[in-house]
Amino acid sequence: MDVRIIVETTFENGTTKRHRLGRLSRPSRRAQPEGFGLLLENAKTILGQLQNVILRDQIEETSEASRICPDCDGIRAIHDYRSRVLDTLFGKFEVKAPRIRRCACNAKSDVVLGGPLSPLAHFFPDRSTPELRRLRAELGARHSFREAARILETFLPCAKQVNTSVRNRLGKVARDIDGMEQTEPLGATAVEDPPALTVFLDGAHIRCRPEYQKRDLDVVVGKIESHDRCRRFGLVQQAVLSPASQLRQDLRALGWDYEQTVTVISDGEPALPNLVRNAVDGKVRHILDWWHISMRIQHVENAVKGLLQSRGFSGIPVLFKRPAETLRWYLWHGKVLTATTSLQWLMVDCARLVTDDRVVTEAARRVQARCRDLYSYLANNMDNLTNYGQRHRRGLPVSSSRAEGCVDDIGNTRMGKRRRMRWSPNGAHRVAVVRAAVLDGRLTGAYQRAAA
Ligand SMILES: [Zn+2]
Repeated sequence: MDVRIIVETTFENGTTKRHRLGRLSRPSRRAQPEGFGLLLENAKTILGQLQNVILRDQIEETSEASRICPDCDGIRAIHDYRSRVLDTLFGKFEVKAPRIRRCACNAKSDVVLGGPLSPLAHFFPDRSTPELRRLRAELGARHSFREAARILETFLPCAKQVNTSVRNRLGKVARDIDGMEQTEPLGATAVEDPPALTVFLDGAHIRCRPEYQKRDLDVVVGKIESHDRCRRFGLVQQAVLSPASQLRQDLRALGWDYEQTVTVISDGEPALPNLVRNAVDGKVRHILDWWHISMRIQHVENAVKGLLQSRGFSGIPVLFKRPAETLRWYLWHGKVLTATTSLQWLMVDCARLVTDDRVVTEAARRVQARCRDLYSYLANNMDNLTNYGQRHRRGLPVSSSRAEGCVDDIGNTRMGKRRRMRWSPNGAHRVAVVRAAVLDGRLTGAYQRAAA
């Protein structure tokens, strides 16, 4: 059989135009399994041809429409044609864009402005379509630049993609995101009741390029949540002039009003909450992440279990079992002093157990070490402990496990240590910014707004 592809354009003035794109032949006698239906190569050719036709018709119609003088409705003359190259997802095309003479009715401004008008110039400021720019950045934030270029070329009839152009494009989009959000009238809708904001913070460590004299780079990743919205972010502190103002932008975007106290949930690392503290001028309630506490309690519990099970254990089991069991309950309910007291008793009882029996002594020392660990962790973060049970019952978050998902999404999938890539602070920052925007759906949204 033979398939012919004909495209018919109907312009706004009612005229129509037909284009014959091409044909596919599928001879029945020589049918092969891979010869059934449309193949990727055919589809790419057809898409390219289709884009060519649509683009040219659209430019023709738009140019015609812009010849009409807005002041006197007269038709303005065409001065000349300039050729422009337009890069799209479906191929690179050289198109002719007309320049139009100014109308005689507008003679006065003619003198001032001079020169012919180029009505299509503002459509192609970057010589590429927003969609192509967005997709390049989106893929570059998820895959290596080379891989991203390959994926684009595999599925689309776009022009040859180079890894460096994907990287540059991603950089441009990252700058656009930062810039766009700074000029956007953030929180313009004056909220009477600013939402309670919680910031979940965590960090990802990625390999640093050798010229920066250190092994690792820290990417701060996190998530800001209000009752109905959330926003992810990722940044490398060395790469931005002011990480605090960057974070402030993100908070403002969720309706922070410069006054309200922001809740920060993170583990014991003080650098992370300090970043938020700088951003909001100190109005921070820092809560130690329950998950990290819970892990340390678990270590104590396991060590005690090991001690009780060790052969030759001669103590009173309940003396060790009880404190280990109640520890979690006390901490969950914010009874920190009681919890630390029972930790101390546990340590004292373990010290008494030290005997000739090597196994028991070792097990007892392990319990002591784990207890000391938890004890100093709690002591260092005393101000950041809370009644977790009560928060939980009120439906408030107690754990930054939600930020840990961000670490994987923003940091590790693209820049994780297993990928064996080394990063500069700027490069890593750009990828993190774009990746966070992609995950939030902000990238698509922004370009759709720009295209509208
Ligand atoms: Zn006119």
